[in-house]
Amino acid sequence: MEKQKRMTKQKKVVYEILSSTKSHPTADWIYQQARQEVPYISLGTVYRNLQVLLEEEKICELNYGKGQSRFDANPTPHYHFVCESCGYVLDFPYETPNVPQHLLDYAPGQVQHYRLECYGLCSECLDKLQKSGMAVLGINDEELVLI
Ligand code: ZN
Ligand code: MN
Repeated sequence: MEKQKRMTKQKKVVYEILSSTKSHPTADWIYQQARQEVPYISLGTVYRNLQVLLEEEKICELNYGKGQSRFDANPTPHYHFVCESCGYVLDFPYETPNVPQHLLDYAPGQVQHYRLECYGLCSECLDKLQKSGMAVLGINDEELVLI
C-alpha cells in the first residue's frame, strides 16, 4: 500500500518535470531534477515510471539511434527540429499534418503512428559558427553553404 502510494508520487514528479520543459530531456536529466524534489528517487525508478507513462500514451520517446532517448510530454504528432551539432531538439509551432491515407497504404504493414523530423543546425550553433570566423555564405533551397 505504502509502496504503491510512493510509486504514484514518483510518477507524478517525473511527469511534472517532463511537462514543465520543452527541451525533450533524457532520463538522466529528468533524474537530476527529480532528485531535488524526491531525494530517495533512483535512476531505475525514473526509467520505470517513464516506461509506465509511455504505455499509458501520456508521453512519447524520441530515439535518434545514437545517444540516449529523449522524452516528450506531448504525445500528439508534431514536427521536431534536431540540431546535428549539439543535439538540441525543439518543436515546430505547428501540428504535424496528417500523412495521406493512400500513402500510408503503401506501408509493408499497419502504420500505428509516425513522426516527422527536420535536421540541421540550431540558431545557437549557427551563431557560434559565424563568431568562430566561419561565414554562412548563403542559404538556398538546396543546401546551407559554409566556408
Ligand atoms: Zn545546435
Ligand atoms: Mn516535441
